[in-house]
Amino acid sequence: MRWCSTQSNAREVDVVVIGAGHNGLTSASYLARAGFKVLVLERREVVGGAAVTENVVPEYKFSRASYLAGLLRPKVVKELGLRDIVLHNREPSSFTPTHTPGRYLMLGSDQKRNQSSIAQFSEKDALAFPEYEAMLSRVRNVVSPLLDFALPTVSSPTLSNVKRVFGIAREVMPHLNTKALKESYELFVSPASTILDRWFESDILKATLATDAVIGSIISPHQAGSAFVLFHHVMGESGWAYVEGGMGAISASIANSARSNGAQIQTNVSVEQILLSPCQQKVVGVRTNDGVEVKSKAVVAACTPYHAFCELLPTTTEFGNAKLTDFISLMHRVDYSCGSFKINLALRSLPVVAHEKEDTLRKQAAHFPALVDFARQHERRGHKACV
Ligand SMILES: Cc1cc2nc3c(=O)[nH]c(=O)nc-3n(C[C@H](O)[C@H](O)[C@H](O)COP(=O)(O)OP(=O)(O)OC[C@H]3O[C@@H](n4cnc5c(N)ncnc54)[C@H](O)[C@@H]3O)c2cc1C
Repeated sequence: MRWCSTQSNAREVDVVVIGAGHNGLTSASYLARAGFKVLVLERREVVGGAAVTENVVPEYKFSRASYLAGLLRPKVVKELGLRDIVLHNREPSSFTPTHTPGRYLMLGSDQKRNQSSIAQFSEKDALAFPEYEAMLSRVRNVVSPLLDFALPTVSSPTLSNVKRVFGIAREVMPHLNTKALKESYELFVSPASTILDRWFESDILKATLATDAVIGSIISPHQAGSAFVLFHHVMGESGWAYVEGGMGAISASIANSARSNGAQIQTNVSVEQILLSPCQQKVVGVRTNDGVEVKSKAVVAACTPYHAFCELLPTTTEFGNAKLTDFISLMHRVDYSCGSFKINLALRSLPVVAHEKEDTLRKQAAHFPALVDFARQHERRGHKACV
């Protein structure tokens, strides 16, 4: 659907949102709910950004990029009424084979089973595991409230910023005892290996848990900061889950919520420039690839900060504001190198999974059994399976 043919009345709005990824859509839905006239512009033909379901291979639907939901805030689900999202827990959550047939580490939601699986490799680790998970929960309790607040701007001591600081403190303080503070600090700055080496002795368990410390990043578990990557992957309240209909179902649900709150969403429209007032101190709208100018009081850039500040703002911008100039030069230094890639496979039939007796699963991805189990359920319901 082309923007100019359908929305001639939308050339002046309160807020333009650049990009219909799940974050742009969520912003749009909240803003529209608050009574603002919102227009979302998405350059692709589908909404969702990296949370999309697409036919990469004809007839097979894939979660093309992201494939597991775990960080979707329950508060957002409730407030935006995303009732149609159906999640299937990843169970078991990890499978780590060894060179000995029938000997493997399997972890999931059943703590007793986890412990007996770990005990094959170390009785001591089996006893420590629930304690380790309790430690992660304590840190989760400290960090979770921060996710639901707009963080204060540290350099600006306005009344609203001070109120935010107190609001956050009120939520966090009940969970912030000396133990949780020490554990949180450690998870934020340490290498994952330092923490895992202290808690556990068996390599298979440490290697399995360290996967979360390196996934999606180009770092080793021995690097400072990798423990935070690990924590980031266990931060969600409800664990990781497959989404019925693929990740695009989440984006579709948020898009429906945004539309029902009154937001307009246009696909196949790329924002080419963010427009500034003549004094270059104020955002006044955007120009699209069609040359259409949309006036707005605010622009939400739900793309990367680099794209927004270094590519979409006019290069001639003279901000006349040292803080903003510093900020832009900071954006130029952001490291966007990334270790993520995804291989989508369409299979003629489901693979044989006989990890207890055969070697089929050796060296396979850790999520494999759960994925196949999910695909089986899917096939039983008459859908084609994709892995
Ligand atoms: C391979 C891969 C696997 C991943 N797996 C997971 C996972 O399993 N679970 C998980 O939670 N996370 C996963 N992630 C991370 C997750 O997908 C992203 O963090 C998340 O999708 C980011 O959402 P977003 O809305 O902020 O941005 P995006 O999803 O990047 O959306 C930005 C949107 O803006 C649009 N846009 C950009 N510039 C313009 C412009 N000028 N004009 C108009 N539109 C524009 C883009 O087309 C895009 O649709 C994965 C990421 C990758 C790459």
